[in-house]
Amino acid sequence: MNKNVKGAIAGAVALILIGGGIFFGVQSAKKGAQCPFCKKYFPHGDMMGHKLKCPKNDTDLTPKPVYKR
Ligand SMILES: [Zn+2]
Repeated sequence: MNKNVKGAIAGAVALILIGGGIFFGVQSAKKGAQCPFCKKYFPHGDMMGHKLKCPKNDTDLTPKPVYKR
């Protein structure tokens, strides 16, 4: 009996941990990735493209025309 209770508790804890992991995984996936420059959230697929054209991105990776004086 005692073993069964321990097993049930362990099983319940495992289920909560797994459920919580999935829940937070889904939440973060919905939220997307945070841009390190403007701190806005974008879908993971769009993050690479956004980083390149982010207005707050100091390291300009996009080739721009060079205007000579
Ligand atoms: Zn950004």
